[in-house]
Amino acid sequence: HAKERGKGRFEFYSEDLAREHEEQSLIEFSLRVAMATNQLRLHYQPRVNVADGYIEGAEALLRWTHPELGEVPPKKFIRVAEETGLIFDLGIWVFRRACEQLREWQRAGIDFGNISVNFSARQLLMRDLIDRISTILVETGADPHWLEVEVTETSMLYDVALTKKVIAALKRLGMRIAIDDFGTGFSSLSHLQQLEVDALKVDQSFVRDLLHDTGDAAITRAVISLGRGIGLHVIAEGVENRAQLAFLRECGCDAYQGYLFSPAVPAETFAGMLREQMSLGRRLSAPSGARG
Ligand code: C2E
Ligand code: MG
Ligand code: MG
Ligand code: MG
Repeated sequence: HAKERGKGRFEFYSEDLAREHEEQSLIEFSLRVAMATNQLRLHYQPRVNVADGYIEGAEALLRWTHPELGEVPPKKFIRVAEETGLIFDLGIWVFRRACEQLREWQRAGIDFGNISVNFSARQLLMRDLIDRISTILVETGADPHWLEVEVTETSMLYDVALTKKVIAALKRLGMRIAIDDFGTGFSSLSHLQQLEVDALKVDQSFVRDLLHDTGDAAITRAVISLGRGIGLHVIAEGVENRAQLAFLRECGCDAYQGYLFSPAVPAETFAGMLREQMSLGRRLSAPSGARG
């Protein structure tokens, strides 16, 4: 490549950029096809109660199987979708699919707890977001009290005033709000109270090394205590081993997600886990305000 041909670093980087640009265009095009041809689906990662080990809900995560490229990870295509504006349609597709799934489980009498759906920064700024969301709720018949919207801490900071309005509107529709990847942005603590969120997800970058990194352990402990102190449901992400879980339990963390319990799985697999849990006599209590 450029460097070996003795050219400067600039060209070396611009070739990288060109390649990246090409890959982005390919992803953008393929993503449009994917949306039109059923290549997308939602998987569900169980969210587990730290105190008793039972599933209390799940996070819906987008999965894309490309006919030639195979599995394309969200990290690769969500950013492209955001940059090209495709995220608007994609986000609506995800929300509708989650509502349909929720309705199916409700009809089948499955106790699924609450389902959270990720919204990215640009989705929040979509002008007709609230109209479209309420239309989908009506059309699918999904009960909004079983839905939670995850918004990353960083995306809340773009336009705090507008974010506040959107969050209030989503809450008026009956949904819960969680702050995702908490600890990676720089939100002032007063925002937390102003935004009237319900849950807070400790970013997995702190959980990953908390057993070996005293800084990460201190941050995790502080975030859990802060969240619980202002009455939020605190969830730890990326829990991969029992020692991490023990630490979180000791800190008073409410719930966790991670490979220790399960990665995101197809809807039928998640439903199987719930049925098994129900057969053990476990009933999920409704989140506050839920009609059940
Ligand atoms: P996120 O919302 O923070 O989701 C958590 C990510 O951590 C997921 O990656 C999940 O599979 C992964 N994860 C869960 N447990 C573990 C663990 O124990 N160890 C490790 N190393 N990872 C774990 P995934 O599914 O690849 O999604 C990545 C990101 O893409 C998500 O981060 C979210 O920001 C975005 N994303 C995924 N689906 C959607 C969607 O439907 N809409 C939007 N807007 N964004 C989405
Ligand atoms: Mg999330
Ligand atoms: Mg996260
Ligand atoms: Mg993340």
